[in-house]
Order: sequence, then structure tokens, then C-alpha cells
Amino acid sequence: MDDAEALKVLYPGEDKPWGLSGDPLTTALAGVGLTVSDIKLAAVSHLHCDHSGGVPKLAGAGVPICIQREELEFALERASTVDGYYPADFVRAADWRELDGDAEIAPGIHALSTPGHAPGHMSYRVDLHQSGPWLFAVDAADLGENFIDRKPPGQTVLPGDVVRAEASLDRLLDESKRLNARLVPGHDQLFWTAIRHPLGGYH
Ligand SMILES: [Zn+2]
Repeated sequence: MDDAEALKVLYPGEDKPWGLSGDPLTTALAGVGLTVSDIKLAAVSHLHCDHSGGVPKLAGAGVPICIQREELEFALERASTVDGYYPADFVRAADWRELDGDAEIAPGIHALSTPGHAPGHMSYRVDLHQSGPWLFAVDAADLGENFIDRKPPGQTVLPGDVVRAEASLDRLLDESKRLNARLVPGHDQLFWTAIRHPLGGYH
């Protein structure tokens, strides 16, 4: 993100974006021996600025990107930096694969519609052969306390979406119980650190 004015709006306090050095997507993929052109299909949970940074790279490489139609329409037609969006990341053409609700986007990988935090937010369910189903809440529950203490997640883009955010949190809790799935919040560093990271990943 190189727009100083946008940065001031998106990160008004002392905190500034941090993460992997260089282009974070490229760096993260290199860590597992891949490049952007190795990706066959991508998905973006919602287009808040801390989730959209890889979109230009993916679009440039012609990678199809799954997104909920409601999220893309909101982002393109109504969102601005005031809402936490950085339109420069997604206004250019991309090979969007628009979803209307739940969908199996690849074998064993399901997009779960969890609106509220953002109008067309989605989470993911990944079914692995050995370790079973995993639920990645992303920002439908960004902290462990959302699950553990059943605390509502933070603010919603649209003020009226608090009810939908609550329903999405309930849905994830219900699904994790029903499937006996591991439930992973989106932004909880303690959780991420506490999860075992086996060599070669989970299967
Ligand atoms: Zn978000």
C-alpha cells in the first residue's frame, strides 16, 4: 500500500501494517516452494485492506479468485477507505468467481457464507484426510475470545449487520460442534502460535 493519504485513514493510530517483508504473498508462497503462477484458484474472505493486498498479484497472474457476489458488489460500488477498504487493490479487472452463499470451491474446500463483519464475508471449511475438518473463521471471529467466551466479534461495516454477524458466529460454533472440527479465528496470534505446525503441514 503506497498511498499515504489512504494509509492515514486506514491506520490512523500509531500502528502501521506489518508482516512478511517484500510482497507478503510472494514471500509466503516462497516459504513453501511456490510462486503465484502455481496457484490454480484463490479465494478472498472479504475485501478489507488487510485481506486484499494479494489481489493485484493474483489478478496479474490470471488466477481466478472466488468471492461472495455481495462482497464484491459492495466493495466496487460503495466501499471506501472510511470502511476499511483500499479500492486500489481490487478496482482493476480480475478473474472473479462470484459466489452466492455456500459452495464447494475445490474438492474438500468449502466456502461458508458468514456475513456481518463485512457484507459478503465468507469463512472456509477444509476437510483433510487425517486431521479431519478445519473451520477457518477469518474475520467472522477474529479472536479466540469470540468462540471461548461467546463474545460478539468487533464492529460491522454496515451498522445494521450486527445481527448477521451474531448469526455467523453461532453458525461457526454450531458447525464446529456438528463436525467436530477445529475452529481457527482469523487474527489471534496466540491461537496461531499455539496450533501445532508439523513439518510438511497437516494432511
Ligand atoms: Zn475484516
